[in-house]
Amino acid sequence: MNSPMPTPGSGIPPGYVRVESQVEGITVYAPAPHVEQIPDAQTFKCPNCGATTAFDPRAASVTCSNCGSMYALNARRVGRDANEFEFTLDTLHSAPRGWGVTRRDLHCEKCGATTSVSPTHQHAQRTSSSERVDASPTELSTTCPFCGSNRVAARTAVPDAFRPRFLVPFKIERDACASLAREWLKRGWMYPRELVNAAYGAQFVGIYLSFWTFRARVQGNWRAEVGHEITENYFDVSQAKFKTRTRLEWKWQQGNVVLAFDDELETGTSHIRAQLLKRLAPFDLNALVTYDPGYLAGWRAQSYEIALDDAWDVARAQMREKTRAAAYADIDSKHARNFSVNAVFDDEAWRLVLLPVYLATYRFRDKTYQLVINGQTGKVAGDKPIDWKKVLLIVAVLIVPGILLAALAFGFGAVGYETGGIFLFGGILFCVGAVAAVWALQQAMDAGKA
Ligand SMILES: [Zn+2]
Ligand SMILES: [Zn+2]
Repeated sequence: MNSPMPTPGSGIPPGYVRVESQVEGITVYAPAPHVEQIPDAQTFKCPNCGATTAFDPRAASVTCSNCGSMYALNARRVGRDANEFEFTLDTLHSAPRGWGVTRRDLHCEKCGATTSVSPTHQHAQRTSSSERVDASPTELSTTCPFCGSNRVAARTAVPDAFRPRFLVPFKIERDACASLAREWLKRGWMYPRELVNAAYGAQFVGIYLSFWTFRARVQGNWRAEVGHEITENYFDVSQAKFKTRTRLEWKWQQGNVVLAFDDELETGTSHIRAQLLKRLAPFDLNALVTYDPGYLAGWRAQSYEIALDDAWDVARAQMREKTRAAAYADIDSKHARNFSVNAVFDDEAWRLVLLPVYLATYRFRDKTYQLVINGQTGKVAGDKPIDWKKVLLIVAVLIVPGILLAALAFGFGAVGYETGGIFLFGGILFCVGAVAAVWALQQAMDAGKA
């Protein structure tokens, strides 16, 4: 479990390790076995006091929760100019792998998600101050942030995935999550009123999720039969006069459009619906910094589950769809048939980045719902149960008065009273109410689908 790295001040010469001695009372050192050093491997113990450190969004640096020391990170802000990589075997083979630092994987046996955590908080060194309160943002709970299960097993992370080269650091602090969630739960008339209380039980887990970004230039060469309206004069024999008529003249046309795509974001996780993550957008990629494992200190991270090829297929399909729409818009007539587009991709490049997200699950009336917060902007998205009783009540309130009034007027009218005006008014009330009711129902159904 312990690394052969000598601890500072322990008296072990650098490059040597203590080995099992045959003779009692004599300490033996041997050259340290060659361990492949990951260039930017770091530990996240505080050099000042030995306690666990973690990246602190407010200070934007690695901070010791015990003695307050701060450590600057070795990262550069690169923004959207961050390097992109071509799809060559060379870049794929030479890409570094792993996190660049020892991390531990937590594998959920219920939903199958694997997240990685800093190992430091699990065997933190004892400090002289034994009353150290764990106030660091490091959360020690081992529940799965995706499904809320606690059937989670720890294992050493295997560094086989590509290492992310860039990330957007956390900006929203964990303490702010509960109130952001409450605000979000309160919003919307179609939800149960007590829903807001569900936020009190939610545990927010800050996690860096993997995303792929893609760049490409797409030329869409289109071909279609285009119908042009021709207005012509003709002589109507039956009426014996000149008239005009329009007819369509079809001819084959072709053209091309060029679309430049940049920073098209594709999710790398399969444990959160892409739809839900889309609602967290946008992330400001101008905040991208070069990857430094220090940003992950005290935070969870998830390596990508959707491989580069698969994410690229999804991105290409979307780019092709947008190119097709642009090509169709390029046609100078609203009549077109036998339309086809050949999309030619060029200048394609990719990046792997980490983006900050808080995950939580909350329980309401014995059901679990997922909630996600953008760790950069504080935008909230998630699932909320619709209160259908409330929705139907509102629909009834909207349409019943019109019906009642019209029925009343009809009844009185039948026994000889002059009620035409009231009947008309009831009818209008009913129509307006019905339109409002349909709109309300539509809103509730859209909210339920989202
Ligand atoms: Zn310290
Ligand atoms: Zn799970």
